[in-house]
Amino acid sequence: LSDKKLIIVSNREPYIHKKTGLSIKVEKPAGGLTSAMDDVLKVTGGTWVAWGSGSGDRDVVDNKNLVPVPPENPSYMLKRVWLTPSKAENYYHGYSNQVLWPLCHITLDRVYFRKKFWEDYKEANRAFSDAVLEEADNDSIIWVHDYHLCLVPGMLRNENPELTIAHFWHIPWPDWSVFRVCPQAKEILEGLLGNDLIGFQVPLFVKNFMDCVSECLDADIDYNKATINFKGHVTRVKAFPISIDFDKFNSMASSQRAIRMIKNTKEKYGVTHGYIGIGVDRLEYTKALIKRLQAIDLFFDRYERFRRKFTFIQIAVPTRMKEPYISYKKTVEELITKINKKYSSGSWKPIIYIDTKIEHEDLAAYYRMADVAIISSVYDGMNLVAKEYVASQVDENGVLILSELAGAAEEMQGAIIVNPYDIEGFSDAIKEALIMSQKERSNRMTFLRKQIKDNDIYKWISDILHEIIKVSSFKQNRC
Ligand code: UDP
Repeated sequence: LSDKKLIIVSNREPYIHKKTGLSIKVEKPAGGLTSAMDDVLKVTGGTWVAWGSGSGDRDVVDNKNLVPVPPENPSYMLKRVWLTPSKAENYYHGYSNQVLWPLCHITLDRVYFRKKFWEDYKEANRAFSDAVLEEADNDSIIWVHDYHLCLVPGMLRNENPELTIAHFWHIPWPDWSVFRVCPQAKEILEGLLGNDLIGFQVPLFVKNFMDCVSECLDADIDYNKATINFKGHVTRVKAFPISIDFDKFNSMASSQRAIRMIKNTKEKYGVTHGYIGIGVDRLEYTKALIKRLQAIDLFFDRYERFRRKFTFIQIAVPTRMKEPYISYKKTVEELITKINKKYSSGSWKPIIYIDTKIEHEDLAAYYRMADVAIISSVYDGMNLVAKEYVASQVDENGVLILSELAGAAEEMQGAIIVNPYDIEGFSDAIKEALIMSQKERSNRMTFLRKQIKDNDIYKWISDILHEIIKVSSFKQNRC
């Protein structure tokens, strides 16, 4: 990057200041991506532009809304964008999470559109764009994240055509028959075509995006080169499958702490014998917890010999606790109660349900002790849990059951791939995992672990930065 200033733009901030009584405490939200991007900016310097959502955020910034971070050893600037509570509600819970999220995850019944959502989404995007422009010069590289900020690239491009702008789209991109439902399809696509580079999780989403542009806008598309020329500006589109910090999970799962925790957890839940299954999710309808529970129900119904021998631990951490998530939580909990009632015997119950957030250090122990992990998403950009499970499988003993509709399925050969809508096949996959020979389990897991180790989050960042620099030099040479 040398002479270029890197500016990251995301909805969520990497450091949150919170008021506790008279003092202000700083928190670092957990999350692989935030901490990996934080690592990058610590080395390159630069600025991170994000929504100032903490109760103490305003108290620590200067008159340009900047605060140096990390607090203990500042190496880059965090610039905060302010949104009023009602604007934040309409932009974030409204347009982002009730329109774009369900639309891109093809759950069209859940799309709920209000005009005020869109109006405030535009205004919020304008606030982010203005904040970036205050910090950027012609040589800056702007890296925008996700579906909250679709309009920012177009707004930036209009103000300063010289900027190098890239965007990573973390969630799926649906095909045109779905995307056309969006009342603002044209504006969203035009906004994104302000980018020089758009990264998607897998090649299918790249193709879907190009198809949408082809149907909706008068643009020149080169499918072979994966470039789109719209009104004289060229955008390159490419797949970059996101990943995790393999070494971190590998070493957390290998630690003495993890070994102690595995022993204690097995004793606590009375699962010292038999098989353990695990599910780790945000309580989110796209993760298809209902389908997963139906498959487990059918599994115990069809394969009675596994009753009392297989216990499934479901960690489901509530997020976005508004409708439709409140109703979804209730449905999940009712189904768990029903299954537990149906099959429990003595002190054994088939499903252990944990509805609080578990930190990564503890999760690594849960992952290591599980003989099988189940991921059932009905649509998912990537699914990092699948990768974290593999990285934590230091004994190479476990089996990954993975939905073919999660982006991760493209790379993770070695998993048992299931269609979550085929409950019968899904329940068979659980049996197949539990009776699989030690040799096959180990072969599959060795293969999966190498794949994730070779393609970790740092490789992902480096691949994208290389592509951005390529695009940026190409622009300069053209000028
Ligand atoms: N996660 C966590 N604690 C929990 C449950 C989940 O830290 O109790 C983390 C999990 O480790 C993973 C992330 O939440 O890093 C979920 O990412 P994923 O890509 O699987 O799904 P997303 O929630 O981003 O749709």
